[in-house]
Amino acid sequence: MYKILKLKKGREKSVMNKHPWIFSGALQEKYHYTNGEIVELQTFDNTIAGYGFFSPKSQISCRMFDFADKPVELFDYNYFKKKITNAYYLRKKLINFENTNCFRLIHAEGDFFPGLIIDIYNDTAVIQVLIKGVELIIDFIKQSLIELDIKRICIKNPESNDIENVSIPFSFIYGEETDEITVLENNIQCHVNLRSGQKTGFFLDQRDNRQLVRELAKDKSVLNAFSYTGGFSVYAAKGNAKEVVSVDISKDATEMTTKNILLNSEEKNSFVIKADCFNYLREMPENHFDVIILDPPAFVKSAKNIQAGARGYKEINLQAMKKICKNGLLFTFSCSQHITPDLFQKIVFGAAADSGRNIRIIRHLSQGMDHPINIYHPEGEYLKGLLLYVE
Ligand code: SAH
Repeated sequence: MYKILKLKKGREKSVMNKHPWIFSGALQEKYHYTNGEIVELQTFDNTIAGYGFFSPKSQISCRMFDFADKPVELFDYNYFKKKITNAYYLRKKLINFENTNCFRLIHAEGDFFPGLIIDIYNDTAVIQVLIKGVELIIDFIKQSLIELDIKRICIKNPESNDIENVSIPFSFIYGEETDEITVLENNIQCHVNLRSGQKTGFFLDQRDNRQLVRELAKDKSVLNAFSYTGGFSVYAAKGNAKEVVSVDISKDATEMTTKNILLNSEEKNSFVIKADCFNYLREMPENHFDVIILDPPAFVKSAKNIQAGARGYKEINLQAMKKICKNGLLFTFSCSQHITPDLFQKIVFGAAADSGRNIRIIRHLSQGMDHPINIYHPEGEYLKGLLLYVE
């Protein structure tokens, strides 16, 4: 038997639509249950609406992981293991394991498992625990991964998470410790630094977009702005680009880019520059690059700074549009959750209008298929991109 949260009358619509977030304002009272415990959600007339993880300090008081309409006695190991094996079967359908051994196994709400990210790097699983409820069942998760023949399990949480009070430091909870591993993505090799890398170590979400760059880079001068591990750069080089310039502000990132270029023997015509991309884009010559990739970090971290972030996106896009060669291809992205696809397109539209160039959208881009978006949780569509043709 689980403790009960009750919805206010009239607040059941979003739950009926299977949106997994229950905001504190939708509940009848302030509940004082333990952080992370599993609770049963009921509507005002005592109908069961499902089960979720309770968060006493967050505005999202409960994150639903099951919309059962009948009482469930116990969510046990087998229950959570099934979520993980189901996610694995889906990845097996989507990813060619012969040329790719890194992928996202659990994409939080996108795999009906709020608060949990699991990325697989060859035989190693890297877990991000985003809420206390997931921390409380970490042994179930670990055991499920071992059954999938994972040899090492590492926990790498975001640096601070006071609201959820998630406390596990960077650590290996299974298998031999290692900081670096090499993975294969579309037959391209990549070093991933688990300890010092951003997020879980590598941006798996850009796999398909990197592949598209490879297909379009032949004989082109390519600029990869905000290069991080240099994934786009190596793909462009593998696609026989004439020249690939990678720019990142971080020394670690530029070193990583160089390492990955060497690992794939693509150092010829590759240049790695440590610089602020805002300055680089402003100062770079006109009519030099045929292909530009803009994949910056999330400029908008909270709803409060949407405007400032939007100015950042507009500025880099405007510079790229002004400078790119005639008939150039611009890949432009935003991974800010608070910027909707619509808003992103509006910002890019603003830059296009100011640039005075003729610009067409060739393709809408998004995160890879191993980052599914729960249709009832559109917030899961965080990576937005446009491939633009600039005349
Ligand atoms: N395109 C990368 C991911 C980029 S992550 C990939 O496919 O893996 C964002 C990167 O932007 C980080 O490496 C960070 O160091 C870099 N960065 C942040 N602000 C920057 C700035 N003003 N100029 C250049 N690089 C910046």
